[in-house]
Amino acid sequence: MVNATPPLCTLIYHLKIKLYLLWTKSHISDFVREKVLGQVGSESVHGVEWKFLKFVEEPNFGPGFPIETVYVTGDLILEPLKDHCQWSSNEICSNLLLQVKPGGNRIGPLAVNTLLTESTQSHSLKLPPTLSCQEYPPGVNIIPMRSKTAQPFHTTNLIVFTNGNNQVKHESSPFIAHGEAMIIDPGCRSEFNKELAEIVTALPRKLIVFVTHHHRDHVDGLSTVQKTNPDAHLLAHENTISRIRKDDWTLGCTTVSGTEEICIGGERFKIIFSPGHTDGHLALLHVSTNSLIAGDHCVGQGSAFLDINSGGNMNDYFQTTYKFMDLSPNALISMHGRVNLWPKHMLCGYLKNRRSRESTILKAIESGSKTLFDIVAYTYADVDRNLWVIAASNVRLHVEHLAHQNKLPKEFSLENYRRSCSQFTIHVGKL
Ligand SMILES: [Zn+2]
Ligand SMILES: [Zn+2]
Repeated sequence: MVNATPPLCTLIYHLKIKLYLLWTKSHISDFVREKVLGQVGSESVHGVEWKFLKFVEEPNFGPGFPIETVYVTGDLILEPLKDHCQWSSNEICSNLLLQVKPGGNRIGPLAVNTLLTESTQSHSLKLPPTLSCQEYPPGVNIIPMRSKTAQPFHTTNLIVFTNGNNQVKHESSPFIAHGEAMIIDPGCRSEFNKELAEIVTALPRKLIVFVTHHHRDHVDGLSTVQKTNPDAHLLAHENTISRIRKDDWTLGCTTVSGTEEICIGGERFKIIFSPGHTDGHLALLHVSTNSLIAGDHCVGQGSAFLDINSGGNMNDYFQTTYKFMDLSPNALISMHGRVNLWPKHMLCGYLKNRRSRESTILKAIESGSKTLFDIVAYTYADVDRNLWVIAASNVRLHVEHLAHQNKLPKEFSLENYRRSCSQFTIHVGKL
């Protein structure tokens, strides 16, 4: 299957006379070619002979179809490319990514896409043939595995970190844990335990298991990991550990609060406390590439739901989003969906979306809505009613956030409203 619309395409500049173009299968057209060349400042290139080079099928990361890419080479005859195209060679991309500083200029998607799809991937990870994997940034392997996650997703990204030179470069930093490999969020369905065990068996024994939060689609594979490697050591927030089933993890375990660092094969990972989705949610920053593993704070498509029953909190969610923006990551890896290569843009989109929902909710209250049901019916009037129960959880957190900011009108009774919350599902059921 092929995407209905061609994605942004990438041009890899090579030796100033060769062009490598790639785009989704069956979308090779003059229009796409012009668009790609336009992106790198060479709008009209004629007299190029195109030849098929290779076909690559990427993992199925999200609700959409997996991306299929065709690489085509061409000889450029008529004009040389402009100087600013030079950065898009593989080597230069790789160097740019490693040299980039927090707060510095963003690495363009063209550069990063080159890394994502080209042969710079080290393939150091032994993977069962039924699974696919994308390595980005170098050493960070993202394996979408079937899990009991919420629609529209059906996989949770298992992150496996194996790279590193095994030399501890930062002796002065007091690491909370050292390992030769790390896996993050083993949350696959039990049908995939065999594959998970194969992955763990192939990794070094000194294994750190990091869990961003306690939801089943992030911890379902823990018992398989501990059975496969009894030397594995778990790191998570105490609010997460207290919610993990006792028989899922009986091995060594360290609670972390989000100020610590982990050292894996000489590479640093900073733990970032990131509450909002739950009250024990943690993210991880891969320091050398400034890439953020963001857990469920963000998802590859649409907006994230906050878990009101596990300390989900809208104020925390906003604060964590600001914290992520301050980090200026070069890439954002969420546990559902693809890597995001323009995190600032994505995080701004999240803020905009939440603020707009919150202002509609305030409008509903100012227009006389008194109960949770009234507010949801007003705010989600144009959304399928089957989704109202899920939406209600975020609405409740927005109302509490408005109360926290003293934005609610005086005549609105928070007490009566809170009492109405328990009636919500009965009310929806009667529709
Ligand atoms: Zn979650
Ligand atoms: Zn999840």
